[in-house]
Amino acid sequence: MSITTSTEGITNEGNNLALIASHSHITGLGLDDNLQPRENSQGMVGQLKARKALGIILRMVEEGKIAGRAILIAGPPSTGKTALAMGLSQNLGKDVPFTAITASEIFSKEISKTEALTQSFRKSIGIRIKEETEVIEGEVIEIQIDRSLTGGHKQGKITIRTTDMETIYELGNKMIDELSKEKIIAGDIISIDKSNGKIIKLGRSFSRARDYDAMGSDTKFISCPEGELQVRKEVLHTVSLHEIDVINSRQQGFLALFSGDTGEIRSEVRDQINLKVGEWKEEGKADIIPGVLFIDEVHMLDIECFSFINRLLEDEFSPIVIMATNRGISKTRGTNYKSPHGLPLDLLDRSIIIQTENYQEDEIESILKIRCNEEEVEINNDAIKLLTKIGVETSLRYASNLISVSYLMSKKRRSNEIEIEDIKRAYLLFLDSSRSVSYLQENESNYIDDNGNVEFNKSN
Ligand code: ATP
Repeated sequence: MSITTSTEGITNEGNNLALIASHSHITGLGLDDNLQPRENSQGMVGQLKARKALGIILRMVEEGKIAGRAILIAGPPSTGKTALAMGLSQNLGKDVPFTAITASEIFSKEISKTEALTQSFRKSIGIRIKEETEVIEGEVIEIQIDRSLTGGHKQGKITIRTTDMETIYELGNKMIDELSKEKIIAGDIISIDKSNGKIIKLGRSFSRARDYDAMGSDTKFISCPEGELQVRKEVLHTVSLHEIDVINSRQQGFLALFSGDTGEIRSEVRDQINLKVGEWKEEGKADIIPGVLFIDEVHMLDIECFSFINRLLEDEFSPIVIMATNRGISKTRGTNYKSPHGLPLDLLDRSIIIQTENYQEDEIESILKIRCNEEEVEINNDAIKLLTKIGVETSLRYASNLISVSYLMSKKRRSNEIEIEDIKRAYLLFLDSSRSVSYLQENESNYIDDNGNVEFNKSN
């Protein structure tokens, strides 16, 4: 069977809607170069232990050597479990597949739950395919030799003689300085070692070239005569294992990816694809990139899903699976057994657990300030203090939700800044969960019960 991987025409870029989502302020895990968490960085505040642990997971994924591991992020509601996963995905960058699902999605598809899980797993495995190398001839490039420099070192200034923007872009991206690994762009001054074709970037002025000279570097800089430069271009593209499955199993090929009508994929097709991908890997034509599958609210899965995950984790192509839950000791769905976090013990046993903890007052304040900034909302000092107090006493999420409504209230009174009065009004207008529960307890008789009956308050 010949396996197709072409997804030409598909772009992974999202739409341009500048929506402010609940995690849009998170741009990474906020770690330094040694993967140590900074107190407040990349939109992330506190939760230092969990961030440090995820830094290690980040390194594991980046090295791409370990797959098929299960990680559970467990902690009370609003303690940043989803935010941490989003931070990890941002740090991983575009090349590493990251799939985020909520457990209940598995049940809402037109395919069986095991198929839905398999698809999610395979979406999280990237295959980086290397295509034939192509040579771009030198005619698009002119090397200007600066003859004023002596000592046998002649430097060239790249001028790209083409109006084809794509070529310029490609060249700009493909020419890399062998020393600094920086990209070389038009206008840079370079030297080319003709014996091995290596390109050395000397910067955008001749001063660095002179430094090299003065250092008596033994690198042999030989100028490249005009028109002789060749740039080798290796075309790489990354697709997910799931995309290869769909393209090879549906009549309409990759268009099925757009319609979402991927249907059930036969296991024989997947077996053949696994075989082929294995061969490509052996032949050096492809690299396998194990990515991350994030399953939020994992306690919503049932025992069948959990046992299937156990099996998928042992698969040859398995990503790192990160699960999140806010449940304590609770029933595993589909059984009468209670277990920690609602997860069966065998899956729990093979998982490493990262704990998140409730925030301190100053951390809540910092997060709320970041959210105000993200929502481009001005708030004065007294108002942020009150909002923080509400966050401590109710929940971070409730306090965060009050930002946009209080801002609308401030606008109503023609101000551009949230003041304490706006927060108070918003607090009285919108209930948090505990006030809603006490209201319900007091007025239960006015509501419809489980049997569809309503016992109206006698006084009405
Ligand atoms: P639940 O258990 O209810 O699903 P959760 O633990 O997944 O909650 P999040 O949804 O991640 O909590 O957090 C609630 C809100 O607070 C989100 O807007 C999130 O981005 C923000 N947030 C949480 N923790 C942090 C943090 N450490 N730094 C910055 N923002 C955070």
